[in-house]
Amino acid sequence: MSRDFLALLQQARSDGRPLIWDGAVGTQLIARGLVGRVSEEWNLSRPDAIRAIHADYFAAGAIAGQTNTFGGNRLKLKTAGLEDKLLMINVQAVEAARAACPAEGFVAGNIGPTGQLIAPAGALAPEEAQEVFEEQARVLVSAEVDLFSLETFFDLEEAKAAVAGVRQASDLPVIASMTFRRTRRGYFTINGVTPEAAAAGLIEAGADVVGANCTIGPADMKDLARAFRQATDAPLIFQPNAGNPRLVEGKEVYEQGAEEFAREAVALKEAGANILGACCGSTPEFIRRLAEKVERR
Ligand SMILES: [Zn+2]
Repeated sequence: MSRDFLALLQQARSDGRPLIWDGAVGTQLIARGLVGRVSEEWNLSRPDAIRAIHADYFAAGAIAGQTNTFGGNRLKLKTAGLEDKLLMINVQAVEAARAACPAEGFVAGNIGPTGQLIAPAGALAPEEAQEVFEEQARVLVSAEVDLFSLETFFDLEEAKAAVAGVRQASDLPVIASMTFRRTRRGYFTINGVTPEAAAAGLIEAGADVVGANCTIGPADMKDLARAFRQATDAPLIFQPNAGNPRLVEGKEVYEQGAEEFAREAVALKEAGANILGACCGSTPEFIRRLAEKVERR
């Protein structure tokens, strides 16, 4: 299955047609009543809801479902008092995605940051971070994910530790994506990482696919995609937000509609995207419109 994914990606690339990824889980959970809990807890208490969200994204045209395990590493779970449930949280997330996954689809083990700062900025040693990611990756492998999707990293050292940890646990395909802001001087993560440094560092650490997700909408991501494409020949993934967020009473609100999102996101194809999905504020409708536009070329 894993080899199939990279072959499929290669085929899509030579056809000039990006693979369609999935969209936000968080907004879908909130729509189903998630309040005041960490979303990973729902893998235990509401696996039916998690499975239904995956089913909606697959039905909309996504080729892969990213497991609801973004915060499923030991350090992140600990902040919610759930570290002793790491095994079942990750296993049941994979089972929920697999139950919704069509025969031709893929289950991508999703891994996000630890939430802690790597030394010297913080107390977490890179080796310790790598072990934390390796632990989560081993559980996801044991539950039989098809590939890995690492995303929303802003610290290159932590992102490299995540790729290295996954590589210790498995030889499955690894997608590694960081999150960038647009400035007048170009694109940077909040730690000052450039797309060029991200592409080089992540590929050297062992990633098969690199790219960017979150923080900005599809229009602002176009030049970022170009910068990645100039920096590397590797396959590229982009998952923009539903437009740039607007701050309303301290909360980020996404106001872009599915049609406008899809129109702007499909233009990322020309900029070099080989996989296209969506991040915060998106719904299955965003993926459906995006899939239609990619299909139409
Ligand atoms: Zn996001």
